[in-house]
Amino acid sequence: MSKEIEALRWDVFARNRRCEAEIIDPTAGPCYDNWGDQVVPSKANWKNGEMDYVRLEHHGDRHELLNDHIWLCPGHHRGTGPSAGYQWATSHRREQREWLETLYVDLTR
Ligand SMILES: [Zn+2]
Repeated sequence: MSKEIEALRWDVFARNRRCEAEIIDPTAGPCYDNWGDQVVPSKANWKNGEMDYVRLEHHGDRHELLNDHIWLCPGHHRGTGPSAGYQWATSHRREQREWLETLYVDLTR
């Protein structure tokens, strides 16, 4: 993983320091790690989480790219754990986009 991507991953995580699925969707349920164990994403284990790309067509530096990504646990990103493949991420694209758009306004003030 390149230094730039790694830095972007940190920026995306640092925005809320938690899985953003539970912010966007209060009914998203608990988070799960790569191995299907329930997890509370934190600064201690953030590298096990994943960025999800939401196509909003922002271009440019990290400040801009931040607005095209949300940070998710593997459970909400890829459906690990008891959800058995149900991918919260792909079924909540519209909600992700709307939430990111509200952040974008804040970032450009
Ligand atoms: Zn999660």
